[in-house]
Amino acid sequence: MNNKKFINESLFGSRTTHDLTSQAFEIKKNNFGSNITYSPKVFIPLTTLCQDSCAYCTFVKSPNEGGTYLNMQEVESIALVGEASGCFEALFTLGDKPELKWKFALQELNNFGYSSTHEYLTANMKNIHENYNIFPHANPGLMTSDEISEYRKYSPSGGLMLESFSPQLLEQGRAHYKAKTKRIELRIETLNQAEIFRYPMTTGLLIGITETKEELINDIIELVKICKANSSIQEIILQNFRAKMNTLMRNNAEVTNDLFLRIIATVRILLPNHISLQVPPNLLSDVAIYLTSGINDFGGISPKTIDWVNPDHLWPDIKNLEESVLNTGQSLKKRLPVYPNFINNEWLSPLVFEKVSNVIDSDGYPRNE
Ligand code: SF4
Repeated sequence: MNNKKFINESLFGSRTTHDLTSQAFEIKKNNFGSNITYSPKVFIPLTTLCQDSCAYCTFVKSPNEGGTYLNMQEVESIALVGEASGCFEALFTLGDKPELKWKFALQELNNFGYSSTHEYLTANMKNIHENYNIFPHANPGLMTSDEISEYRKYSPSGGLMLESFSPQLLEQGRAHYKAKTKRIELRIETLNQAEIFRYPMTTGLLIGITETKEELINDIIELVKICKANSSIQEIILQNFRAKMNTLMRNNAEVTNDLFLRIIATVRILLPNHISLQVPPNLLSDVAIYLTSGINDFGGISPKTIDWVNPDHLWPDIKNLEESVLNTGQSLKKRLPVYPNFINNEWLSPLVFEKVSNVIDSDGYPRNE
């Protein structure tokens, strides 16, 4: 059966959801054992300015709405809180090169002594890498090869969501109409550069921003193709779109639990086995039903900072989550922002490899200290 037919039947055919997720759960157990991992992290919203304006985004702000940059001291205080609360990941979340749109962004950068968001982000990553027991991981939007080379000196991994392959999303009134960095060929090019420069990447789909079955099926087909072709992809996030007040997409439908479970299981069955599959637990209406769907990871969960991208959705309580995971015969386990199979001299720069090696056990997970 070709992938298109398989995906169509998995998502919309007569096979039961339980049957499908059972197959995916077996694959998960065979390749990731009985652990479900998460990365204890702090969110660092380096800048809420962005050159784009996606129809579902509440993170981004114009200068008039208070969009700005954190200064280095503010970044350091968040890193310090993260370090003190046992986090391993400093997640730099930021808009894509806002200085290309806003003069104000360039002025702010100049005031700090930098000429681009990339330079400023690199300086902050370097500072966190050298002075704190926490690992920078950044989602700065599109990245050039030179930018990737700089980031990988100080961080074990980076992130760029593909979101969707549908060209219709760039049309007027759709999610990416005012978002030229969301053109899929540009995002694929960043992932290609990450592979060339050996930088482990997290990517994935935003499920629910498309409207038709064909778009959804095509997104899964193309995602799987890229995962098979690009060795830098360490994990896939399947993020379910949540409608937010005060956005153009506030009335758009959210994916149902049943369809989302079928999507997760289908992706797990088709993905290369070594790639981690994550769903963000704070966006799920019922975490328990996803524990045996084929996922092996919950991504970053913060004990201290809100989810800046989905501020209405609180993190689950870790104790409760641990209990729910235990009830399925699995264990909740902490991980670093880089997966064990990428912890080596090929994928990490010498300094990052040394820092990572100092905190892991023989399985590549953070030691229990
Ligand atoms: S590119 Fe990212 S930060 Fe910018 S508007 Fe879109 S979702 Fe928001």
